[in-house]
Amino acid sequence: MTKWVYTFDEVSEAEALVGDWENVRGLLGGKGANLADMTRLGVPVPPGFTITTVACNAYTDAGGVVPEGMWDQVRSALDSVEEKTGKKFGDPKNPLLLSCRSGAKFSMPGMMDTVLDIGLNHEVAAELAITSGDEFFAYDSYRRLIQMFGSVVLGNPDEPYEEILDEFRDRYGVATDAELPAEALKEIVERFLEITPRFPSDPDEQLKLAVEAVFKSWTGKRAVDYRNASNIPHDLGTAVNVQTMVFGNLGENCLTGVAMSRHGATGENHIEGDYLFNAQGEDVVAGIRATLHLEDMETDMPSAYNELLAIADRLEKHYRDMQDMEFTVENGKLWLLQTRDGKRTAQAAVRIAVEMAEEGLISKEEAVMRVTPDQIDFFLHPQFTNEDRKGAKDEGKLLAEGLNVSPGAAVGVVAFDADTAVEWAEEGKKVILVRPETKPDDVHGMLAAQGIVTSRGGRTSHAALVARQFGKPAVVGIAELDIDLAGRKMAVEDRVINEGEFVSIEGTFGEVFVGELPTVVPDINDRWLSSLLEWADEYRRLRVLANADYPVDANRALDYGAQGIGLCRTEHMFFEAERLPTVQKMILAETTEDRQEALDVLMPMQRGDFQGLFEAMSGKPVIIRMIDPPLHEFLPAVEELEAEKAAAEAAGDGAAVAEVDRKLGRIDDLHEENPMLGFRGVRLGILMPEIPRMQAQAIIEAACNAKENGFDPKPEIMIPLSVHVAELEKVKAVIVDVAEEVMAARGVKVDYQVGTMVETPRAALTAGELAKEAEFFSFGTNDLTQTTYALSRDDAEKSFLIEYVEQGILPVNPFATLDPNGVGGLIKIAVETGRAARPGMEIGICGEHGGDPESVATCHELGLDYVSCSPFRVPVARLAAAHAALNDAG
Ligand code: PEP
Ligand code: MG
Repeated sequence: MTKWVYTFDEVSEAEALVGDWENVRGLLGGKGANLADMTRLGVPVPPGFTITTVACNAYTDAGGVVPEGMWDQVRSALDSVEEKTGKKFGDPKNPLLLSCRSGAKFSMPGMMDTVLDIGLNHEVAAELAITSGDEFFAYDSYRRLIQMFGSVVLGNPDEPYEEILDEFRDRYGVATDAELPAEALKEIVERFLEITPRFPSDPDEQLKLAVEAVFKSWTGKRAVDYRNASNIPHDLGTAVNVQTMVFGNLGENCLTGVAMSRHGATGENHIEGDYLFNAQGEDVVAGIRATLHLEDMETDMPSAYNELLAIADRLEKHYRDMQDMEFTVENGKLWLLQTRDGKRTAQAAVRIAVEMAEEGLISKEEAVMRVTPDQIDFFLHPQFTNEDRKGAKDEGKLLAEGLNVSPGAAVGVVAFDADTAVEWAEEGKKVILVRPETKPDDVHGMLAAQGIVTSRGGRTSHAALVARQFGKPAVVGIAELDIDLAGRKMAVEDRVINEGEFVSIEGTFGEVFVGELPTVVPDINDRWLSSLLEWADEYRRLRVLANADYPVDANRALDYGAQGIGLCRTEHMFFEAERLPTVQKMILAETTEDRQEALDVLMPMQRGDFQGLFEAMSGKPVIIRMIDPPLHEFLPAVEELEAEKAAAEAAGDGAAVAEVDRKLGRIDDLHEENPMLGFRGVRLGILMPEIPRMQAQAIIEAACNAKENGFDPKPEIMIPLSVHVAELEKVKAVIVDVAEEVMAARGVKVDYQVGTMVETPRAALTAGELAKEAEFFSFGTNDLTQTTYALSRDDAEKSFLIEYVEQGILPVNPFATLDPNGVGGLIKIAVETGRAARPGMEIGICGEHGGDPESVATCHELGLDYVSCSPFRVPVARLAAAHAALNDAG
């Protein structure tokens, strides 16, 4: 007979059955496994039992039929709980009340269903009022059960219940339900029952229906959406935890709260949390009442506080991670209702991982593996500067302040509902989602938004939890913010913001500004981040270089830990306004002499830039690519030339008219239907050898200058888009000639190399031949992807490519994530044949993929020596490379 039900003290049995702890979590769900584990550790946990995920899946597979024998097992588990508590389910004299909660393997906060206070009916409530001596408590619990049962199990809307509560608060002139008299609650119970005619008074029936409702919630829309967004498989199922209720709302010696063993936003190593006296857990999470800071509990209830601290410490050591706990104090006695690894911001993830390694709780490898490359990205994300925040305040732009629940800055237009947020985001707008409070149904809008604002809710509200998890800046609980959903506007006093207007939010400080504030990227030199990345550097095999074109980029790249420059796109140096006319002159020249004249002007400019790069990167490789422009990008606009011609004609300047005509003719000659497959890359250097000659001269002279200045330049000259070894032979000969000439003239020797990019299938397939000339390879995977797929890198994403990904025809956009089979297959051939021809040659990648964590892992597997990416991605690539190496090591 399958065992569908495990009491909390049967965890060792579950472990014996399924093997390791991961499988126990799979069977009992994260929450159930930890409740049982805490019971085993001797932490005070109210007795209960778990119905397995296997039972849930069996229920779903059978089309909503409970597996055979399950209810009998529930009954015997209940017997054991009754024995432990000395109470009886459904017995009015000494009632056992139960909670019924979902608990999947991976936490899905608020996505599935919970029913509390199961076991109450008229008779039981009446007796409970007497035995507890607290009539308010008995009927308040009863009305909560009917309300939750109505909405969760029977699918009734919540509003009618809230309207009745509103009506009674008005009638008694009170602000909160807690201030209502007991007789009001009795009346509310009757009114709730009127609108919940299918509420069963039989406790067994209540429990059965609640368990089935939790099973069903696994396949509910919001749970499915959440799993899609979080990459959680759909076939795991949820467990159901049935547990003895303990009450934080039995009077002033009771409280309920949530705590994290370390700070979830900053990672600081001290317990943090919130609690409420005389309340139930849902009151804390819903953020309806203003919660108290956990520190205050030290004075309010010292012994429970100290016990909580000790338990938090113990649990953290046991699970070797930061814990997020729910607790209740019932008449002075502390109970733990849940513990799980706490969700945290990227900043906190880094600090906690590093400090836990420094404390010796985890290893440095584990610390490195606990932070995802995407979390590193946070440190490279926009923030507002303190000066800009202050300036905005001085200008009166601060609209309101609320709770700072998820750090970072976000700017966007206000959208008042999730669907609008999604629609606008799809149109490419940046959106801030503003709601009175968020519910699980809003998650798709939260994901689409840059940031989230709510007028209600606390630090542990749904909005705060979800925002933190997905790294969205959020400010919640702005009481003074008056949101008029119907009127599509919000106001603070007489200041009105309409939907579609810009706001800027600062989640680190809890501020909302009107208008758009400029953003900056945060401090990469954070002490914990630096340590983590240094550790990552110890484990990775791949080197990380940067794509940088100017000395300022090179310096930033160095700050971020780059080990050299993997790609300097020299044509980018020509885009500057004062250089462009000379470049155009060079391209439009029809004689070698004319072209040389333009090149003579460009040479010292290039030399200066290269010298700056060599001096910034002293001792590190600087890979400079010969100019690779699709020519059309540099040509003057025909309209401009025509205007010039008209002016020359009007002035009667015949010579000027002739010159414009010549240029127009040359542009016509150079016109290409498909410039990306046209006269670019090495092809230019073959037909116009004076260009590589000028660039080689600039590079080697710059290196000589840098060397004379005491630096250690390591130039590597790279030829782009070659498809045949003959191209390399020719251009390399030009470069070597110039280099030797310059070095002889200067009397300085610099070590330099000449290599090539591999950007076409032919180059990859004939890499063995190319390697006879090329001293190094660098895969230009932007072009290699384009040429392998025969997909235009400029056009495909705006027409069909994204649709392909959405339809699942391609798993990912191959321009974002390196295709391991197709493009990767060509790389593999090129690496093998290249190294066979030239053992030990240096091989890397410099396409945009170099900063994508998954692609970095592919590069590691392919045996490359380095990845080169934008300076801002360097820290991400450092960590991704360490993950690849550690995963490889097993
Ligand atoms: C590439 O093609 O991957 C590359 C780095 O060169 P570019 O993007 O300049 O064509
Ligand atoms: Mg390219």
